[in-house]
Amino acid sequence: MNSATASVKPTLINLLDFDRKGLQVFFVGLGEKPFRATQLLKWIYQEGVVDFEVMTNLSKSLRQYLKDNCHIQTPEIVAEQLASDGTCKWAMQTHCGNKVETVYIPEERRATLCISSQVGCALACSFCSTAQQGFNRNLSTAEVIGQLYLAQQRLGPEHRITNVVMMGMGEPLLNFDNVVAAMNLMMDDFAFGLSKRRVTISTSGVVPAMHRLHDVCDVSMAVSLHAPNDELRNQLVPINIKYPLAELMDACRAYAQNGPRKHITFEYVMLDGINDSPQDAKMLAKLLKTVPSKVNLIPFNPFPQSQYRCSEMATILKFRDILHNAGIVTTIRKTRGEDIDAACGQLVGQVQDKSRRHLKLQAARTTPHAI
Ligand code: SAH
Repeated sequence: MNSATASVKPTLINLLDFDRKGLQVFFVGLGEKPFRATQLLKWIYQEGVVDFEVMTNLSKSLRQYLKDNCHIQTPEIVAEQLASDGTCKWAMQTHCGNKVETVYIPEERRATLCISSQVGCALACSFCSTAQQGFNRNLSTAEVIGQLYLAQQRLGPEHRITNVVMMGMGEPLLNFDNVVAAMNLMMDDFAFGLSKRRVTISTSGVVPAMHRLHDVCDVSMAVSLHAPNDELRNQLVPINIKYPLAELMDACRAYAQNGPRKHITFEYVMLDGINDSPQDAKMLAKLLKTVPSKVNLIPFNPFPQSQYRCSEMATILKFRDILHNAGIVTTIRKTRGEDIDAACGQLVGQVQDKSRRHLKLQAARTTPHAI
């Protein structure tokens, strides 16, 4: 071995990259019993312990092996914005310098964390600010679950996160394996123990992955619909060209039959003069007639360079009433975090722009009392 090779440190294994099954395979590969997996999960996710020395129900030699070869690495919070309504948005930086967003939305009876699945996004939805950044890479399982781990740590036990939505940056179904492993951890009783009704994956309609999902991971499903016909949806959500509405609706019907909620939530962003007419609402009601559905109307969140305006509230209400009258449960998403940059992708854009203007906050130095 020459000296250059000798000095290369072996890459450490990040144990946040494994769900329970993955950890069992890992431990069995080391000649250990599979139950080591649940012991480790409890230490990490329930006790918040990342120092292997403290994990005293593991043998001394196993602890030493883990110390030499593994680590528990989350992304790092590099910016934090707290809105007056309690919504909190973080820019989280991965070890290689990429930044993604995570948003905490407290409500009366639940507290939801919105998690990112990719750095940027490849899907080019015309109204989305993440789309403007283009696609960089998939997040690892550790980087997905690390957002929940870090957010819960930052908030403290008195602000328990009760729901997770995969509605941050990226298309989660295009990062299938890593997102599924992370969602398994969210629902694992030895990790976060959230019920499958409280974990929601949001997709723009990656049809083959929707079919695959219900075989491997039983979570609630939201579909970003945004248009009642192919012509308009091709423009707003271009993945529709590949997987048009007829195929998407088939996948929704199949998922709803087996899914934990027995219905699909359809997200519909309200764009002034684009998709918000009474005719659009009627067409939407017709499209959804044969799918167990709920509709969530989302007021468009403008961002610099966006070519759209949000529909008037009167138009949104009228749209909702038409759907209601057709028997479809329809909600209007409450706008949260209005005094911070709430639209998807905006905080990261700002951090990138202003990093030289001392925007970076050291999370450890600020106190979480206001959250
Ligand atoms: N790629 C996934 C998840 C990320 S986007 C998906 O498409 O579902 C989460 C939701 O926010 C989607 O419904 C998306 O269409 C919507 N969204 C994106 N940009 C928005 C904006 N500027 N205003 C309102 N909703 C937006």
